Amino acid sequence: MNQAIKIIASDEALTKNTKFQVYTERQLDKIKPLQKLTEEQRFEMRVVANVLPFRVNQYVIDELIDWSDIPNDPIFQLTFPQRGMLYPEDYQRMADALQRDAERSEISVIANEIRQKLNPHPAGQQEMNVPTLDGEPLPGMQHKYRETVLFFPSQGQVCHSYCTFCFRWAQFIGDKELRFASNEAGSLHAYLAQNKDVTDVLITGGDPMVMKTHHLKGYLDGMLHPSLDHVQSIRIGTKSLTFWPQRYVTDPDADELLALFERLVKGGKHVALMAHFNHWREMETPIVREAIRRIRDTGVVIRAQAPVVKHINDDPAVWARMWDTQVRLGIIPYYMFVERDTGAKRYFEVPLIRTYEIYREAIKQVSGLARTARGPSMSAGPGKVEIQGVVEIAGEKVFALRFIQGRNPDWVQRIFFAKYDENATWFDDLKPALGEDKFFFSDEYDAMQAVAYDE
Ligand SMILES: *Cc1c(COP(=O)(O)O)cnc(C)c1O
Repeated sequence: MNQAIKIIASDEALTKNTKFQVYTERQLDKIKPLQKLTEEQRFEMRVVANVLPFRVNQYVIDELIDWSDIPNDPIFQLTFPQRGMLYPEDYQRMADALQRDAERSEISVIANEIRQKLNPHPAGQQEMNVPTLDGEPLPGMQHKYRETVLFFPSQGQVCHSYCTFCFRWAQFIGDKELRFASNEAGSLHAYLAQNKDVTDVLITGGDPMVMKTHHLKGYLDGMLHPSLDHVQSIRIGTKSLTFWPQRYVTDPDADELLALFERLVKGGKHVALMAHFNHWREMETPIVREAIRRIRDTGVVIRAQAPVVKHINDDPAVWARMWDTQVRLGIIPYYMFVERDTGAKRYFEVPLIRTYEIYREAIKQVSGLARTARGPSMSAGPGKVEIQGVVEIAGEKVFALRFIQGRNPDWVQRIFFAKYDENATWFDDLKPALGEDKFFFSDEYDAMQAVAYDE
C-alpha cells in the first residue's frame, strides 16, 4: 500500500470502531442510546425482534444513526425493529407471550407461525432456480437468467447488520430449510466450466464480505482458471460499505482482500462490487470514503442498487442526492428496485405508481451520468419487470412495463401493459390490460412452473 493511504488511514476518524461489535435480539438492552427510550418502546422492539431478524453493530449505532431524530432517522428505520412491521394481531400474540414470560419453546412456535404468514420464499426461488450438476441439485446456487449464476457461500450467510426490510430475512432466523448455502467451491467451478453461456457470477448472501479473505480466495482465485475464461464478470453483492467499511481499511486482512481484487482484475475479469445503498447518509463517513477509494484503486468497479422503501427513502430528493453522491465518488448507479412482497412488507410498501414517480422525479434532477440507474424494477417470478410509465391507450389508462431480464431471454425488452391500479404494490397485483386475459408470457411461464413444481 502506498504512503498516502497510510497517512489517511492513521486519521483519528478512521480508527474508532475498528473492533467489530454486534448486538442481536438478546442484547437489545446493552445498546446505550436505547436506554433513553421509554420502557414501552424497548418492549415493542423486543416483540418484533422475536419474529424478524435483528442484528446491528457499534459503527452503525455510533456513526450512522442520528439519535436526536429517532424514530424517523432513516438508518434507525433501516436497522431497528418497529412495531408496525407486524400485523396488529401477530404483534399482540407475541407481546402477550413475552409479557407472561412464556417458555422459549412456545415463543419460537409462535414466531414460526407468524413468519409463515410473511411469504418467506418470494418468487419461487427455492423451487425454480436451482441448477444441477451431473443430475444432482446444487442447493447453494441459483441460475435463473441464462448469463448469470448466483452463488451463496456458506460462510457468507449473515451480514454485518441486518436490514429490517430484507427480502432474504428467512435465511437469518435459524431455519436450515430456508437457507440456500454452499461451501463447495469445487461444485461452483465445475458447474461454471460446464455452462459456457454463463458470463457472470454473482456471489451473494447474506453478505459475502463477512467472510475472511482466505475463504473468499477459495471461491474466487479459481475463477482465473482457463476453463472459466467465458466467465467475464464477478459480482459481489454486499452492504458492507454501509455496515462495515472497515472491511476494506482496518480489518486485519483488508490489504490481502484488496490484493485479491487486484489479482482478479489483472487476470482479466470485470469485478463489480454491487453495493447496497438506501440513503446518501450511508456514504458520508470518512471510513466509507476511504473504503471506496481503496476499492477503486484495485480496478474493481462499484455499482449501487437498492429498493424504494417507506420510512427510509420514499422521497425523490433522497434518491437524487444519493445518485449524485455516488457519481461524485466514482460509483455507478445500477438499479432502483421495488421492495419484494415478503417479510415486513406491510410497513415498507410503496404503491407502484408512487415508486415510479419517485424514480422519475429523481432522475429528472440528475445529470446523464447518474441516469444509469434503471428501474423501478420488480424481481418477480417471470423476470425483472421495469415500470416504464403510465399511458392511455384507446381510452384505457395502463402501466407500460418491460422485461429487463426474463426467464426466457427472448422476453427481454418486450413491452407489455397492465391495468392501471393506484393501489398495486407488486407485480402479482397487476392484471392484463386492453381486453387481454393473460400476459404474452403467461402460458410459457405457467409451463415452466408446472415442470419445476413437479420435480
Ligand atoms: C437481478 C438478477 C440477476 C442479474 O441480472 P442483471 O440484469 O444482469 O443485473 C441474476 N439473477 C437473478 C436471480 C437476479 O434477480
